[in-house]
Amino acid sequence: MIVVMHAAAREEEINEVSRRLQKLGYGVHRSTGETCTVLGVIGEYNDSIALTLESMPGVDKVINVSKPFKLVSREFKKEDTVIEFGDIKIGGPDVVVIAGPCAVEGEKELLESARIVKEVGVNILRGGAFKPRTSPYSFQGLEEEGLKYLSRAREETGLLIVTEVMNQYNVPLVAEHADILQVGTRNMQNFYLLRELGRQKKPVLLKRGMSATIEEWLMAAEYILSEGNEKVILCERGIRTFEHYTRNTLDLSAVPIVKYLSHLPVIVDPSHGTGNWRWVPAMARAAIAAGADGLIVEVHPRPQEALSDGPQSLNPERFRQMLEETRQVAMSVGRRLALS
Ligand code: PEP
Ligand code: MN
Repeated sequence: MIVVMHAAAREEEINEVSRRLQKLGYGVHRSTGETCTVLGVIGEYNDSIALTLESMPGVDKVINVSKPFKLVSREFKKEDTVIEFGDIKIGGPDVVVIAGPCAVEGEKELLESARIVKEVGVNILRGGAFKPRTSPYSFQGLEEEGLKYLSRAREETGLLIVTEVMNQYNVPLVAEHADILQVGTRNMQNFYLLRELGRQKKPVLLKRGMSATIEEWLMAAEYILSEGNEKVILCERGIRTFEHYTRNTLDLSAVPIVKYLSHLPVIVDPSHGTGNWRWVPAMARAAIAAGADGLIVEVHPRPQEALSDGPQSLNPERFRQMLEETRQVAMSVGRRLALS
């Protein structure tokens, strides 16, 4: 249930409604919007309680949210959530680009990638230090050493850092080095991890589970918000279907649907979504046309030498070309690529 306060509601009135709800055993999440304050109420909807609340001073209306996700829903918050790092805004009018190698492979290699992405104006560097690999015999990432290289890359280039965290125990360590913590597709329903991420303050990039419905994905985000962290970026990265020409089937219909259902920013990963660099630029363009707030793309100085996901990584030249093409699509839908 959601309690919408009048635009002119006073602070004491809002607090009084919160107190009443808490006394009744409900959890309350306050969202202060531009026009009015909304209280997200966690617990069963009850008609008579709704009527009582509606009679309280300052209350405009009480809405029964029929969907299982509450705090992530547009019903709870009408305005888009914008995650800000100074001038860089994710979920605002501009389309952000995150780029870098699949994995941190070494200090020298990471710095090389960082310089490549910075040179074309990208502001956010990706790179996994903890890698969730299908095979235990594949390269598993440089772990803590890799995180240190990421921090060094930030110091040298000023780029923001996105990197994956695979379990709840590593959240504090990864948060020391990352600006945005990524939850991979295989961990979308690792509820201990989601809760832990909800208890810290850094933004979370939540990838869609490869077999997750949109509702399950939004419920995973709800776990993070329900613990108090509102800064969640949703990332469509492809789902499993019967099709094998692509590694996954990039579900671009999820973009307008999630934008409709939720206030959270949505970005698209055309690299994992296709599994082949050849299809990445077309899907990047399509993602922006569909309304995505950003892209996360795998870029490697020499994809043929990459320790993971080389076949889907763009080389620097192809990446530059992709940016130019997506820039034009962004303009045609009234947006700009946020490049510096
Ligand atoms: C990645 O971003 O490198 C990654 C492992 O992504 P996903 O979890 O979407 O497979
Ligand atoms: Mn990868």
